[in-house]
Amino acid sequence: MTQMQQALKGQITDEMKKVAEMEDIDIHKLVRGLAEGRIIIPKNIEGKSRAVGIGKGLATKINANVGSSSELEKVKWEVEKAKAAVKYGADTVMDLSTGQDYEKVRKAIMESVDVPIGTVPIYEAGITASKKRGAVINMDEDDMFHAIENQAKAGVDFITVHCGITMDLIEKVKTSNRIMGIVSRGGSFLAAWILKNQEENPLYSNYDYLLEIAAEYDVTLSLGDGLRPGCLHDASDVPQIQELVTLGGLVERAREKGVQVMVEGPGHVPINQIQANMQIQKTVCKEAPFYVLGPLVTDLAPGYDHITSAIGGAIAAASGADFLCYVTPAEHLAIPNVEDVKDGVIASKIAAEAADVAKGVGNAWKRELEMAHARKDFDWEKQFELAFDHEKPRKCRGRKPTEEDMCTMCGEFCALRLVRDNI
Ligand code: SF4
Repeated sequence: MTQMQQALKGQITDEMKKVAEMEDIDIHKLVRGLAEGRIIIPKNIEGKSRAVGIGKGLATKINANVGSSSELEKVKWEVEKAKAAVKYGADTVMDLSTGQDYEKVRKAIMESVDVPIGTVPIYEAGITASKKRGAVINMDEDDMFHAIENQAKAGVDFITVHCGITMDLIEKVKTSNRIMGIVSRGGSFLAAWILKNQEENPLYSNYDYLLEIAAEYDVTLSLGDGLRPGCLHDASDVPQIQELVTLGGLVERAREKGVQVMVEGPGHVPINQIQANMQIQKTVCKEAPFYVLGPLVTDLAPGYDHITSAIGGAIAAASGADFLCYVTPAEHLAIPNVEDVKDGVIASKIAAEAADVAKGVGNAWKRELEMAHARKDFDWEKQFELAFDHEKPRKCRGRKPTEEDMCTMCGEFCALRLVRDNI
């Protein structure tokens, strides 16, 4: 049975107990949230990952994407990145490998980290089709469902499935004034397939079969936003919103079968549209956990997109998003390296913490108070321990030897010391 089905029966699982304890919330509140679909615990029945709760009333979680491509494929390097992501605080890792050794990479990552693992099975379907029939676009329905089942059996905890890309929506994209068209990789696979075959998206037309597989293994569905905006100009347009409406209907069908489900969201969104986007999703998708990719609030900062997405992520999470997908400085430029992964995770941690302080969820305020006292007491070790990055502040402080109760910023005019000693 899925975590949701058990919650509906009032059964409390070990995973529920662990999440309630970690989040410091009442177990019955958690079970209610799970039963109603406002909270999910992505945990495959076959998997060995730790229990992580995502959704309303819980601390904002963050995901780090890793994975090889056909241009750069080194299993060890991807494992190193996944480990770095978890070390710096990623709550989940998605393996987006599209190289020939994708299965090896996924297996190695799953053996190396204990957080829930997500994937995009349409990539496997595309690779299979490319090998057997010469091109990604030559995949068939069996390739798609075989990849999903294969990954469910392998213990993957959540999968992105672009079920909302329909024939009708592709026509809308063609006649819209979008600049970037379709920027989702999985979304583009399905759009190209629909156009070539002139048939409905099998993940939409055969959604009940997908639900059967998801229910059997308790694989959480992450309903992909294949039509997410790829630049600020395209944000909140008709194809994006119409896909969201379709996803809202699919959320209800998943819940009827006891399948855990979340919804993915934009993308590139101007700051003044973020809150409205969150409210629309929460209303249309009946409070399903919202997993946002950024959002990036300007398109002018390649090399610094971990910052543009952290600004958007903080506003999105404070406005209701539950799960932030990190963005690294390498976004739009190259496959990220270990340093990029670290920077991306820390930027997302900052966004999540800022939002959790605003929402008053998790232990955010407790941590902030501890840091305030550590600063007041010149307790440098405590400050390093509480910091998202334990190493950088230590290195920074160590640049020039200084007295314990001040730093080189103000030197002898340290305000904290003056107040402590004289007031
Ligand atoms: S020297 Fe200035 S920045 Fe450094 S601890 Fe004192 S008040 Fe803070």
